[in-house]
Amino acid sequence: MANQFNCLKCPAYCCSYTRIIVTPGDIRRLAKYHGVSEETARTRYTKKGYEKNERILRHKQDEHFTTICQFVDSETRRCTIYAGRPKICREFPGTHRCGYYDFLSFERRTQEDPDYISTTG
Ligand code: SF4
Ligand code: SF4
Repeated sequence: MANQFNCLKCPAYCCSYTRIIVTPGDIRRLAKYHGVSEETARTRYTKKGYEKNERILRHKQDEHFTTICQFVDSETRRCTIYAGRPKICREFPGTHRCGYYDFLSFERRTQEDPDYISTTG
């Protein structure tokens, strides 16, 4: 079935999720991608998560969603480290529908504004 979402019409909504978990393998990939040590990548790009030993991507301020993954380009709304992004980013949403996009589409229909961007992320 064809995808029911279009990332090109989305302001990286999924990247605003506060708990994007990175694995040790993701940290290795981030280190390699940026040409830094794994320890540097771990502290520079991730922070303590919600559970023991959990690491999550660091965020930055964002005009639409309050905060968003630091790797989103604020202007283009695209991932700036596409080849080095974590596994979970590669797999999401994992099905032909994206809940974020469904919500965004609903709001755009309700507001009768095809470019509307929710600020509730
Ligand atoms: S929220 Fe969904 S539609 Fe938007 S960028 Fe992420 S996967 Fe694509
Ligand atoms: S690494 Fe890239 S795809 Fe993953 S959350 Fe950050 S900006 Fe989005």
